[in-house]
Amino acid sequence: MDKTDYKKINDALFSEISNYTPDYSSHSTGRVLFSGDGVIKIGGMPDAKYGELLDVEGKYRAIVLDLEENEVGAIVLDAEDAVSANMLVKSTGHIVEVPVGKEMFGRVVDPLGNAIDGLGEIHTSTVRAIEASAPSIADRAKVEEPLMTGIIAIDSMIPIGKGQRELIIGDRQTGKTSIAVDAILNQKGKDVYCVYVAIGQKTSTVSSVVHTLERFGALEYTSVVCSTAHDSAPLQYIAPFTGCAIAEEMMYSGHDVLIVYDDLSKHAIAYRAMSLLLKRPPGREAFPGDIFYLHSRLLERAAKLNDSFGGGSMTALPIIETLAGDISAYVPTNVISITDGQIYLESELFNSGVRPAVNVGLSVSRVGGSAQVKGIRKVGGKLRLYLSQYRELSVFAQFGSELDGETTAMLEKGARITEALKQDVRSHYDTAHEIIVLYIAMKELLKEIPTNRVSSFVKAFTEYLDIHHADIVNEIEQNGDIGMEAGLVVEKEMRTFADYYFKEENR
Ligand code: ATP
Ligand code: MG
Repeated sequence: MDKTDYKKINDALFSEISNYTPDYSSHSTGRVLFSGDGVIKIGGMPDAKYGELLDVEGKYRAIVLDLEENEVGAIVLDAEDAVSANMLVKSTGHIVEVPVGKEMFGRVVDPLGNAIDGLGEIHTSTVRAIEASAPSIADRAKVEEPLMTGIIAIDSMIPIGKGQRELIIGDRQTGKTSIAVDAILNQKGKDVYCVYVAIGQKTSTVSSVVHTLERFGALEYTSVVCSTAHDSAPLQYIAPFTGCAIAEEMMYSGHDVLIVYDDLSKHAIAYRAMSLLLKRPPGREAFPGDIFYLHSRLLERAAKLNDSFGGGSMTALPIIETLAGDISAYVPTNVISITDGQIYLESELFNSGVRPAVNVGLSVSRVGGSAQVKGIRKVGGKLRLYLSQYRELSVFAQFGSELDGETTAMLEKGARITEALKQDVRSHYDTAHEIIVLYIAMKELLKEIPTNRVSSFVKAFTEYLDIHHADIVNEIEQNGDIGMEAGLVVEKEMRTFADYYFKEENR
């Protein structure tokens, strides 16, 4: 070989080397060893990471949830029995992503972001990983803007601020879903996007929620992520994370979002089923040890961002179902400790007709106070104290002993306030109406009205004011407060209206 040959070889080698681009995305592969109930065990994937998306035979998807010495445990996102032993598994190097963006609103999707409302495929330009770290302390701002639910008992005594996490907790059939749905309906025209995540519910229940949203024109700003009791545990498990990703996208683009997780008890149960199949050691109530981490990493993602991040917010309303009012069970105590307060609903109250059945004593909002509307705080500030005194007194009064005048007056006022706070489903109030109702209730203007008529009377009165004194109502709505003059007009009008209301009836 002469010199030129060497040079040729040399050049060829150099050009090969300089054109070589290494493939960093090495795909480790493995084989399915076991498959059952949506859970698979895979052998031979030493590089798999927790939460990573796996590709099974190029057809099915699975998420890594368990890393053991010789095998990897994963959950299958497609049909439970789709995957069988010996199938080839490849790692993908990233975590599950779902479509997000404005296009998701007005739609009903499954936990993987596929449309299930029959309105055709959803085309979005963005996707987002379902797991993400929560905004850090420095990224956050103080919760100081109210998020009105339109329910007086809540807005006055357990106020919720934008970016807050407020738990709705209670036994079955105590109106938990109704409160959350009413809160969504009340966001109409307020530039708040809403996400409703149904976890492990009956299909009929979810469809009635969707119908309600549609009927009240709330679906257009709401995205419904639906996993029913019929879906596999893995799908129920990822549903809230998908909803959270959809909400997060809006929050990071500077919008306010309200997200409802209905409910996290069923989520915990789905997670327990998966964990037991993965043969993780069961702990208290057979839940795995990381059940706290499961819900805290989900709820920590709700936040109020500071202005350098666009100032958006995500308010979370997780729902927990208790058994026989037991709020000290494992999952309820966990979620109570993660959230910034709870709205506790009681069967006894619900059955005795106090609806919404909010137990004032056990409900609290730890951060919403500073976000409360000025007028509501001013007018209803003493409400909480008053109601708890009333409840205490009324227990004694049941013994039938003779009561002095002051006690009787207090009982009567308490009973009327309780009546005034009653609200049917889908009858959310505007801020001005809430202030007016609180005003007349706290000022004892309802004294002359028979107790059992108070509830319907206040509703009729607010409607009357809307027609005859729209200016005053607008003024209160604009200011978020009731001034002296407006107060006097309301008082006078109430008397006039009461005369008319009861006269009409006696005719
Ligand atoms: P589940 O445990 O089944 O999820 P839930 O606690 O979510 O029940 P809802 O489904 O909201 O309860 O309400 C149960 C029933 O009570 C519904 O029929 C609803 O219409 C009724 N209800 C709820 N809130 C009120 C209210 N404020 N006034 C009158 N009826 C109400
Ligand atoms: Mg419900």
